[in-house]
Amino acid sequence: MKVASWISDFFSLLYPDLCPACGNNRQRGEGEICLYCQDNLPRTNYHLQADNPVEQRFWGKVPVFRATAFFFFRKGSPYQSLLHQLKYKGNCELGRFLGRCAAQDLFASPDFRSVDLLMPVPLHVNKLRKRGYNQSACIAEGLAAVLQKPIDTKSLVRSVENPTQTRKGVYERFRNTEGVFSLIDKQAVASKHILLIDDVLTTGSTLEACVHALREADDVTVSVFVLALA
Ligand SMILES: [Zn+2]
Repeated sequence: MKVASWISDFFSLLYPDLCPACGNNRQRGEGEICLYCQDNLPRTNYHLQADNPVEQRFWGKVPVFRATAFFFFRKGSPYQSLLHQLKYKGNCELGRFLGRCAAQDLFASPDFRSVDLLMPVPLHVNKLRKRGYNQSACIAEGLAAVLQKPIDTKSLVRSVENPTQTRKGVYERFRNTEGVFSLIDKQAVASKHILLIDDVLTTGSTLEACVHALREADDVTVSVFVLALA
């Protein structure tokens, strides 16, 4: 897959009109990925399913009202390169595009339509400076364009840069992510329904830590949206 993603990066430099997922030619007006890949995206449709597997990941950990992922992601699938482009290659427009596609689906769910505020999982300020953008904020911008909701990138901050490298194990990792995020403006989220946004859901411990921090505010409801479910 490394070679495949290297080749796809190389070709996207030479031929920017190639689809970043399948590598085929992209027609004008097709969007950031070709229509074939858009149609074949392995959507979860979990926004229409209560108690879905994404929601179950938070059970017994933190209270989450609704949670969903836009599509399933498997190692080696053509869609893996989308996430790579988004996270490491500065393709923020791809994140916005996928966010807009996902929001058109989310619109069918009254639970997701009722969110007040979109909140991308924050990067630590040092990482943001180094990378130059927050990939989750790109997704949030796409969602916001369709859902017509404001984005908050100020109230929640990542105050600890990288806690997971020093210790190992899932339990330790979770313990370790507590206190990683700080809610610096409680008023901004009080009595609101917040949609937390991230690119990929793996262990869920980062999102758990965010929910934990948001609950410092009064009467807050938190839902979760991730682009891809690993
Ligand atoms: Zn394609």
